Amino acid sequence: MRVRDVAAILEEWAPPEIAWEGDNVGLQVGRGDDPVRGILVSLDVTDDVIREARQCRASLIVSHHPLVFRPLRAVATDTPLGQRIAGLLRYRIALYAAHTNLDFALAGTSFALAERLGLSGARFLRAPYRVQKKIVTFVPQADVDRVAGAMAKAGAGVIGNYEACSFRIAGEGTFRGNAASNPAVGRREALERVQEMRLEMAVPGPRVSAVVAAMRASHPYEEVAFDVYPVDGPSREYGTGVVGELDRPLKLRSFLGRVRRSLGIPHLRYTGNPDRAVRRVAVCGGSGAELLPAAIAAGADAFVTADVKYHAFHDSAGAIALIDAGHYETEVPVVHSLARRLAARLRGTGILVSSTRVTTNPVRWT
Ligand SMILES: [Zn+2]
Repeated sequence: MRVRDVAAILEEWAPPEIAWEGDNVGLQVGRGDDPVRGILVSLDVTDDVIREARQCRASLIVSHHPLVFRPLRAVATDTPLGQRIAGLLRYRIALYAAHTNLDFALAGTSFALAERLGLSGARFLRAPYRVQKKIVTFVPQADVDRVAGAMAKAGAGVIGNYEACSFRIAGEGTFRGNAASNPAVGRREALERVQEMRLEMAVPGPRVSAVVAAMRASHPYEEVAFDVYPVDGPSREYGTGVVGELDRPLKLRSFLGRVRRSLGIPHLRYTGNPDRAVRRVAVCGGSGAELLPAAIAAGADAFVTADVKYHAFHDSAGAIALIDAGHYETEVPVVHSLARRLAARLRGTGILVSSTRVTTNPVRWT
């Protein structure tokens, strides 16, 4: 198995196309062709993490935070960043980053946090619009099942618990091929009329190119006519933040204790009445304070996130218990869940997947 095969698995879960604009995700150091012996999953890439990768013979580090984020002007090895890049290259360790695309994915950063806090019924807090697309193509009636089947296999036509969803309308298509054409139906340089089906299927944005490739490969025409439309509706597959329920209501005071224990933090900052009941909880791993209005609108009693500013605490007053549980602490659960999922997927390949033992949190408590 090569780096690019592992990247393909990660991108099935967290396609790079859904990352925030300006983010830098994907292969950061190394080659897609490099063989993978072992994988180390980490939130950050520090010198200690690189050392650990060498010790556990990992040839690929999968990190959440990109090592290379701002445009890189030089790989000067007298800077910490240059040194890390040089170290990775020297020891032939590839680096792959899944950042905001992992935040936006099902089973991503916020889902891992929700699981750690014991929430059930976890669902996206805010679904992005215009991620979903509609693809429409025109197929001779005899071929429509085959084309629709190929498109479904590539990821089109999934609506909730239903797959292979399509809509078809019969109609007439016309075309005239020029002298260089090689029409599947009729003759070149003659106006042809063909009974066709208009075939339409929903497709998540990141799957469009795979679906178009499958459609082209299965379509009988030399030139395939098709359109891809943006659909102004919420995505089901991708989103930010998660909301879920505690199995039984807890007083905020007890819930805060659960957050501290499950995330291993001595202190946290919060607003709200410690005696008020908490049942529905919104979470967003990392800096998620901009989701505060969404958490309130979702009827959450508490919102667990990080990097909360003073005025956001004010904004939460009377509406929701706002809890700042630390950037590292709210994101690190995804390291373990990602390592677990990768290990399950790579079972039988002999590739060892581990999560780092290094605490890469630069923040200390006193
Ligand atoms: Zn982060």
